[in-house]
Amino acid sequence: MFNPQAIRADFPILKRKVNGQPLIYFDNAATTQKPQQVIDAQRDFYENHNANVHRAVHTLSQEATDRYENARETVARFIGAKESAEIVFVRGTTEAINLVAYGWGLPNLKSGDEVLVSLMEHHSNIVPWELIAKLTGCTVKYGKVHPDGTLDTADFVGKLTKNTKLASLSQVSNVSGIINDVKHIAKIAHEHDALMLVDGAQSVPHMPVNVTDLDADFLTFSGHKMLGPTGIGALYAKKQLLEKMAPFQGGGEMIREVTLNPQTERCGITWNDPPWKFEAGTPNICGGVILAEAAKYLQKLGMAEVFQHEKELTAYAMEQMLSCCTKLKLYGTTDVSLKCGIMPFGVEGLSSHDVALFLDNYGIMIRSGYHCAQPLHQIFKLQSSARASFYIYNTKEEVDRFVEVLKEVEQF
Ligand code: PMP
Repeated sequence: MFNPQAIRADFPILKRKVNGQPLIYFDNAATTQKPQQVIDAQRDFYENHNANVHRAVHTLSQEATDRYENARETVARFIGAKESAEIVFVRGTTEAINLVAYGWGLPNLKSGDEVLVSLMEHHSNIVPWELIAKLTGCTVKYGKVHPDGTLDTADFVGKLTKNTKLASLSQVSNVSGIINDVKHIAKIAHEHDALMLVDGAQSVPHMPVNVTDLDADFLTFSGHKMLGPTGIGALYAKKQLLEKMAPFQGGGEMIREVTLNPQTERCGITWNDPPWKFEAGTPNICGGVILAEAAKYLQKLGMAEVFQHEKELTAYAMEQMLSCCTKLKLYGTTDVSLKCGIMPFGVEGLSSHDVALFLDNYGIMIRSGYHCAQPLHQIFKLQSSARASFYIYNTKEEVDRFVEVLKEVEQF
């Protein structure tokens, strides 16, 4: 049985006070807190097993390599990948999307080709494609979003043409928490011979995600948003794509051989097999190992239960906010069946930063700003928004306190 009170005991940071008040952490879409199990795993790695991977025959290197490669296997299972070779460890979602843009997009896209994204994307699923468009001459097209924040699916699907080479869409919006039916979109993209990238930064930590079921060609996510450390995340890609893709960065480990041709005085290079072909240099070894610990922690809770808990909390929070606060406005749809635990809102007469600062005085952490998604804020006709986002350790009691303080914010 899912028990947030028991879960809270695993998170040391939740015991601290901020501004003399018990910490209420509602900024989980930005990053999540870490359980003792993850903190201990990091300590154990550095205290007992630290060495570089793949490079030495000594015992510590073997132990570090085994842990790093087992972590890849755990992460692969967590998202339903067929094999661990389909998981490339990267710095996070941003690096994963850039890897696809430069490793697949740069060599394959040309003038006349199209990449289709939506207007609800995080900037990290817009900017890399605009950069690649400049380099290749391809065009980036934008699927529309309704005023309530939901995807205009008919428009998105209508923009898939014979020229579309890739559709790239977030499974969950980091601003509104709205869930996109990426399985349906992937099916239609494939009918147009386009590839499908799913930005899973806000879905993988919060709901069951199975790449095989989605039939996604690429899936990207960040460890720090799912109880793991910063500086580690993963790109899932179908093996046949990774085999054809160009390396993103050059250096040690990603090559099989670098040999000097004495005649030409140039080096000939052959690539390592995927996924190592895409992991140039010393990777974030400990980060990978701990990401797997985080995945195991979530798996033990059950992703369906995590999803259900956040949905219940969101429904409760929206209901309380709307019934108790008169100057408060929720942005985007309030239909909780279309969302997970992210709620953008505003308070009449106050900037989002004022709201966040006021709440901070009471130990409540929320986000304010445009959350790296300016086009979506343009659709909402906003400069910025306040955003509360939930995770496994948040409770109804915290929501009650949040709403109580919001009532005071309204009097400000
Ligand atoms: N996409 C989405 C939907 C996100 O929420 C985020 C993080 N806010 C990113 C991409 C970028 O993730 P990261 O900063 O971990 O690379």
